[in-house]
Amino acid sequence: GETSDSFAIEESLKELAQLADTAGLMVVGSTYQKLASPNPRTYIGSGKVAEIKSAICAFEVETVIFDDELSPGQLRNLEKAFGGDVRVCDRTALILDIFNQRAATHEAALQASLRLFVALAQMEYQLPRLTKMWTHLERQAGGKVKGMGEKQIEVDKRILRTQIGVLKKELESVRKHRKQYRNRRFSVPVPVVSLVGYTNAGKSTLLNQLTGANVLSEDRLFATLDPTTRRVQMKNGSEFLLTDTVGFIQKLPTTLVAAFRATLEEISESSLLVHVVDISHPLAEQQIDAVEKVLAELAVSEIPKLMVWNKVDKVTDPEKIKLEAERREDIVCISALTGEGLLEFCNAVQEKLKDSMVPVEAFVP
Ligand code: GDP
Repeated sequence: GETSDSFAIEESLKELAQLADTAGLMVVGSTYQKLASPNPRTYIGSGKVAEIKSAICAFEVETVIFDDELSPGQLRNLEKAFGGDVRVCDRTALILDIFNQRAATHEAALQASLRLFVALAQMEYQLPRLTKMWTHLERQAGGKVKGMGEKQIEVDKRILRTQIGVLKKELESVRKHRKQYRNRRFSVPVPVVSLVGYTNAGKSTLLNQLTGANVLSEDRLFATLDPTTRRVQMKNGSEFLLTDTVGFIQKLPTTLVAAFRATLEEISESSLLVHVVDISHPLAEQQIDAVEKVLAELAVSEIPKLMVWNKVDKVTDPEKIKLEAERREDIVCISALTGEGLLEFCNAVQEKLKDSMVPVEAFVP
């Protein structure tokens, strides 16, 4: 329907604004346009281009970000239309930027491998765009330099491919190393519980609440870049390892999804998956779907799952939500912020672990 359509677009733009904020940009405004099909030259129509251009002048805008992936031609045409120093980019480029920044500043054991993932994703993003750039330059030169562009493409592609090859090898060795580390960890008979969920659902907050660990928690997308593991001790003496994983997000560039798969390998070796949902979010259902889609790709259907509806302190009608959760199976309502429902959560985890518990001997190599 018309309204839910606009609603989804506005929510997606809100998320884009949040991403921009995470990248350190100050968002001054957003706009969208409904077209039967995108303009092949500029993606948006000429009227919209003019409207944005006047906003650029009024607010001294430096960057214009599009929510959908732009072709290299559209990028160039828009940059030309907006003029001067305005940078035009799309969601994919923005996410890659954030990962680059985060990977560069975040102190963690996985920092090195994350940087590799990002570099790899960036190169794979560039590769198909190279050809188009050079054909364009050639056309601009009126065919006088025919063949020159072609040669340059080949050189550039070869350089990129070599770099990609080197990165892939490094990644492979990082993965081997981490596998060894995980194997060692399995010699200790402590079950592993992995937190998964849409980015900003409250995974780090929950981990902090349960362990008192000071894992970075910010109201920003991708605050959690590295899986973090903490030991949780329950009142009855049993314990488990709780792992916080990277957040999922819609429209994640496919190259990054592939890179994530390596990071998410740990998930496939856990005893229980806890799917944390921000139930106060207007698009909670879509976010659940997005996460389940990624989980389906990871082939973890055998692992028991528990869903947590977080932020019940924030919903308008908590009783209704709680009734709905009871109606379905395997859902616990909590507020990681206030601590509400955490005892029920721990009990549910314990129940689930009892069901799935592998005999202790099985953990000993
Ligand atoms: P993550 O990306 O899943 O690790 O999410 P975070 O744990 O970083 O939380 C994202 C934001 O949601 C932070 O601003 C938290 O303070 C907030 N948050 C987390 N849990 C709750 C909750 O139960 N209630 C409310 N109101 N806010 C929460």
